[in-house]
Amino acid sequence: MIFQIFFPVISQAETVFNPHDLLETRINNLTREDLVRLTQMGIDIDGVWETTARAYMLPDRLKELRSLGYEVTVIPDRIRRDSDLIQAYHSYSELTSELKATETAHPDICRLYNIGNSEQGRELWFMKITDNPDIEEDEPEVKYISTMHGDEPVGTELSLNLIRVLTDEYGTDPRITALVNEIEIWIMPLMNPDGYMSQSRYNAKGRDLNRSFPDQNYDPNNTVADRPIETQHVMNWAFAHSSVLSANFHTGALVVNYPYDSDPDPRANYSATPDEPLFIELSLTYASLNEPMYNGSFDRGIINGAEWYHIRGGMQDWNYIWLGCNEVTIELNDIKWPPYSDIPDLWNDNRESMLTYMEWSLRGVRGVITDSVTGQPLNATVTVVSIAHDVFTDPDAGDYHRLLLPGTYDIRFSADGYQTQTVQEVIVGSGNATQLNVAMVPQVPGDINHSNSADLTDAIVTMKLLTGTDIVFPVHKDADLNNDGKIGLQEAVYVLRKISDPEN
Ligand SMILES: [Zn+2]
Repeated sequence: MIFQIFFPVISQAETVFNPHDLLETRINNLTREDLVRLTQMGIDIDGVWETTARAYMLPDRLKELRSLGYEVTVIPDRIRRDSDLIQAYHSYSELTSELKATETAHPDICRLYNIGNSEQGRELWFMKITDNPDIEEDEPEVKYISTMHGDEPVGTELSLNLIRVLTDEYGTDPRITALVNEIEIWIMPLMNPDGYMSQSRYNAKGRDLNRSFPDQNYDPNNTVADRPIETQHVMNWAFAHSSVLSANFHTGALVVNYPYDSDPDPRANYSATPDEPLFIELSLTYASLNEPMYNGSFDRGIINGAEWYHIRGGMQDWNYIWLGCNEVTIELNDIKWPPYSDIPDLWNDNRESMLTYMEWSLRGVRGVITDSVTGQPLNATVTVVSIAHDVFTDPDAGDYHRLLLPGTYDIRFSADGYQTQTVQEVIVGSGNATQLNVAMVPQVPGDINHSNSADLTDAIVTMKLLTGTDIVFPVHKDADLNNDGKIGLQEAVYVLRKISDPEN
């Protein structure tokens, strides 16, 4: 197997970034205050154990930190020294071939998409696995994205294993068949192919993709402008989809890290989302099925992002805040790039976790939101009244999937141009999601005019619905006329019914 090392192509005034200049370091004897300071200096911290942080930096940054009195040790670069280590891993071209072959072998359940090219022109492959893969169905979308840090390749191999299991066992294993039939599964084995090919954490321009997403506290502009190209592709894909549950896979520790990673107070010891109990359950679902993780150095194998160490611009916070999608960050192995012979054991440790976590997308409350007049699916917002965090319908099918712990909830549905509806005391159990479909009634504008208030049988109603539809319709004979001479609500409802079903 040939493993090519690419150096970035530098254009015009771009800063030169050579991944081989980058140093992996340990910064020792740190207090929480030191960590805050290092984060504010923009030091790329990537894991903290008691008073030691792992961090990446260029040589002048190392000098600077040492001159400030920090005790920094440089870790010899094992990956690049030991080429045997990388030999058995899929090369980028082998990964591409395998994904294409899988799609060809399973055309009934697989679609392989290139969602855009990396800085150096490599495709970002995203495999969709579901029944009826060309039809928008009322199904939750789940996504797994791996190896946004190019030197953390375990998740890439596990993603390929997962794709293999989902496709090979479809139709024979009842559980796998149900997963593929009921969920729209998206798996991206390699988000940072350029970094992977140069065994670098960063993309080809030296950007850390997991520090490059919008951040509610420090970079709240939810657009792709000025972000790394790989991040732009993932954001644009996500804007066009409606995932409800996701995970992104890393190595360098053994833990499930749940939002928030970022907090308005850089000194905060913890940063909880409004869905804190749900995130703990989701994380425990994964960790408790992975024995080494559950019994490892983190309590029950899970930790809040900010409690561990703060990051800004992480992908999981962005998913939760802007997409309404529950995402966690899963660290699969303490050693970033273990010998390939460790992969079978790592797959055994994670197989059940990866499947069971995915099944969470079928829990909570789900349904389809439509326009009561036209029956068309709607772009609507779903609010659990007691939890300050909305989710949104997929406007293509109108379906929503609100993950919730068992309990009783009041749920509010709202959409531009429609009357807001609240359904009270919705009971959620621990099994399949409670089904709650809602037909939303268009708001009737206040200024309905009719041409002739004296003779209602000849009157014409002209009405512009707030949904944008213009309606011109003869008033029916039982129209109620308000004191102000305008058509009342009953007549408006009659007109709405008529246009949805003229025979009625
Ligand atoms: Zn990572």
